[in-house]
Amino acid sequence: MDILWILWTIPAVIAVEETLMDSTTATAELGWTVYPVSGTSDNSWEEVSGYDENMNTIRTYQVCNVFDSNQNNWVRTKYIRRRGAQRIHVEMKFSVRDCSSIPNVPGSCKETFNLYYYESDSDTANRNSPPWMENPWIKVDTIAADESFSQVDLGGRVMKINTEVRSFGPVSKNGFYLAFQDYGGCMSLIAVRVFYRKCPRIITNGALFQETLSGAESTSLVAARGVCIPNAEEVDVPIKLYCNGDGEWMVPIGRCMCKAGNEAVENGTVCRACPSGFFKSTQGDQLCLQCPINSRTTSEGAINCVCRNGYYRTDSDPLQMPCTTVPSAPQAVISSVNETSVMLEWMSPRDSGGREDVVYNIICKSCGGGRGGCTRCGDNVQFVPRQLGLTESRVYISDLLAHTQYTFEVQAVNGVSDQSPYSPQYASVNITTNQAAPSTVSIMHQVSRSVDSITLSWSQPDQPNGVILDYELQYYEKDLSEHNASTIRSQTNTVVIRGLKPGSIYVFQVRARTVAGFGRYSGKLYFQTMTEEEYNTSIQEKLPLIIGSAAAGLVFLIALVVIIIVCNRRGFDRHDSEYTDKLQHYTSGHMTPGMKIYIDPFTYEDPNEAVREFAKEIDISCVKIEQVIGAGEFGEVCSGNLKLPGKREMFVAIKTLKSGYTEKQRRDFLSEASIMGQFDHPNVIHLEGVVTKSSPVMIITEFMENGSLDTFLRQNDGQFTVIQLVGMLRGIASGMKYLADMNYVHRDLAARNILVNSNLVCKVSDFGLSRFLEDDTSDPTYTSALGGKIPIRWTAPEAIQYRKFTSASDVWSYGIVMWEVMSYGERPYWDMTNQDVINAIEQDYRLPPPMDCPSALHQLMLDCWQKDRNNRPKFSQIVNNLDKMIRNPNTLKAMTPLSSGVHLPLLDRSIPDFSTFSSVDEWLDAIKMGQYKDNFANSDFSTFDVVSQMTMEDILRVGVTLAGHQKKILNSIQTMRAQMNQIQSVEV
Ligand code: AMP
Repeated sequence: MDILWILWTIPAVIAVEETLMDSTTATAELGWTVYPVSGTSDNSWEEVSGYDENMNTIRTYQVCNVFDSNQNNWVRTKYIRRRGAQRIHVEMKFSVRDCSSIPNVPGSCKETFNLYYYESDSDTANRNSPPWMENPWIKVDTIAADESFSQVDLGGRVMKINTEVRSFGPVSKNGFYLAFQDYGGCMSLIAVRVFYRKCPRIITNGALFQETLSGAESTSLVAARGVCIPNAEEVDVPIKLYCNGDGEWMVPIGRCMCKAGNEAVENGTVCRACPSGFFKSTQGDQLCLQCPINSRTTSEGAINCVCRNGYYRTDSDPLQMPCTTVPSAPQAVISSVNETSVMLEWMSPRDSGGREDVVYNIICKSCGGGRGGCTRCGDNVQFVPRQLGLTESRVYISDLLAHTQYTFEVQAVNGVSDQSPYSPQYASVNITTNQAAPSTVSIMHQVSRSVDSITLSWSQPDQPNGVILDYELQYYEKDLSEHNASTIRSQTNTVVIRGLKPGSIYVFQVRARTVAGFGRYSGKLYFQTMTEEEYNTSIQEKLPLIIGSAAAGLVFLIALVVIIIVCNRRGFDRHDSEYTDKLQHYTSGHMTPGMKIYIDPFTYEDPNEAVREFAKEIDISCVKIEQVIGAGEFGEVCSGNLKLPGKREMFVAIKTLKSGYTEKQRRDFLSEASIMGQFDHPNVIHLEGVVTKSSPVMIITEFMENGSLDTFLRQNDGQFTVIQLVGMLRGIASGMKYLADMNYVHRDLAARNILVNSNLVCKVSDFGLSRFLEDDTSDPTYTSALGGKIPIRWTAPEAIQYRKFTSASDVWSYGIVMWEVMSYGERPYWDMTNQDVINAIEQDYRLPPPMDCPSALHQLMLDCWQKDRNNRPKFSQIVNNLDKMIRNPNTLKAMTPLSSGVHLPLLDRSIPDFSTFSSVDEWLDAIKMGQYKDNFANSDFSTFDVVSQMTMEDILRVGVTLAGHQKKILNSIQTMRAQMNQIQSVEV
């Protein structure tokens, strides 16, 4: 502990000595009391004036009775007030005569004297009291000289002065006296100073300690509490120092330090507020720091610097770090599309905002979805390594939809982006995905089997990614190797595999094909053919049933015939036995057409009956309407969700019947559902059900993400490949074939009535009859005609003229739809009036090929627009024709040369077929332009091949100057080309 104290003393601080009495300051006689009394004995202490070593006049006491033994000479100071001191120090300056230097001195000669003190609460001493003896006096010490002098010169010239200090305590009374006792020496008491010690007021360790008197003993420590200086705070408590007996501070305990925003100056005695532009964030000894870049202080004494506008700090950024800002946009985003995936790469932003924690987020939007604008991509899109917080400047995005436009925004964000009120800066890139192979077929069922055949059926792949051209089924006997597998192609999703061994297990896998190629094979499935025994038993089980139910032989015969017909109809083997329990709903859509006939709901006496029969009633609690997406004939069309018990929630379109409807309107509205409910085909909009038991009345159908085809095409002008467009047309034709097979005549087939889903599958919709029936519609598309309204531009002439609506008139409309599709939603006959259209058609003018339209497609349109409806192709032929084109895309390469983008005049179908003439001259005669025969011949336009390539300039060059003639010849050449293309496509 002692060692520690020594170490812990505060050496810089000098103890303060407070003087209680100083004999040298006496200006007159000291007047101390002497014993024995002066005069009674000549030999006691005597007050004498003298000089100190600096030759200042001082009052001293001298005594020199060395020759008389038994000396006892006392001199007593005046009463000295204690003034709170507990320990008293006495400094004595004196000189002593060396006894040996005095000749003949007796042995009683002394060279020492004694120091005494006597405490008293008041100045009560007199000549006799206190008595001159130890006890009551208390002896402090015997004082000896360090140096004595041999030559006495009381004149003060040669003096050896000793200085001795003694202390005593504790003292407790108000004051005390000192006494010096000589017992036979020769000495001079030159100066006596009485004082006590105290530790001074001090600021140390950030705290102020008041002046403290030292303790009573030389070893005692007086504890003093410190108080933190202004703007400092305690770090460790208590804050203490100890004042030792010598008036020194020691053993510091605890400390205060300048608060945050203040720094210690002036040797640690003052805590000063940080000047402006400087900050100190914590309490401590450190100095204020200058504000980092992009920050400033708002007042003195700042504990931090606030960021300038537009600059920020994260919670974990050190306060001495410069404020930072958001990064600029990533640079140079490049994309490489591979089918339905894309790799995006970019360069880091030019400005990182001053941070090193820049990461990237990818925002995926699919655009041009038919509703204008872009929508956020769904959850199914995959991002590798991840979508948000990318540290590398690269991401791989997969599972996008085929042939869809996407916009990707690559956002650069850093640690402070979330503090900026602005959205992160980004660079965007637009891409269009390519065709992708179809996804895998996931469900395959055995429909029936026999001893040597198995009939299988499967569902369409979830993501066909285009028009499925056909399926390939691979199979082999389970016990043999896969290398022995056989394959069968099928255009439908049902196939009969024949020539199998009885009672054998076979392995089957199926895959779908689109123009993008084959998808992956489905998982392996095992099916077994019947054994002979199984077959015999099944026949035996059936026969008695048939016989038993037929009462007469005739009936039996009829039944037998029926069985055979039915079996043949279904294309089953004679030996097939049915596995109806395995038959899935989806196969019904692919049954032999003609089996089901459409029933007009208006033939029902009570049309509500038709609704009940064909449309499922849905409880309104299963329907959740989300947003309005369009306006229908009878009210709003909304999108929403349908959650039927036990089924997955699905996105649906909800047509509502506005309130205040009449009973007739309700019937007309619901008639669409009664019609739609009878259909089940992938290219016909599917009815989920109706809500009729609550208000509003609703028709709920599958949701078609891309909306109506006409708008969709207009919004995506020029975005699709010819194959994609043909794929859409094929879908529409397929849906129409189904409807025609059901004996349903649509009467309003037009691109606006085709809906498109996210997979670009087109579905025929709009089965409402109302627009034909009601007269108060203001829609100019539908023109009032005798007995109803008619969309003139889409309608076949016989339907306009005498309301002969048939599937053949639907084929005419289909031709118009083809034209709409190939021209990306152009209005048929542009701005011609309805009457002009009717007249032009009557005069055999037809729409020319749209820009970049393959000749083969335009020819198909022209076929649909045959005046004689019997000459128009059937929908089944159209489907086959389009399938052929898809399978042989080369047939779609030939374009009509003049299709340079400008609208061509209507084609004149009255122009005779050039192939019926043997020469160009004959042909010119036939088109009544014989006068130019020589002009053509002289310019070497003498074969049909050359003539068919002629341009307007060529016509001018050969010398046809009359505008009417130029037009006639140009029209005839165009017709020739169309006729040539037709020949070519037939040859193909
Ligand atoms: P409609 O009354 O059938 O002509 O429908 C009016 C509009 O609603 C259409 O042009 C479409 O934009 C939209 N719509 C109708 N049915 C659907 C559906 N099933 N899916 C998506 N949008 C639809």
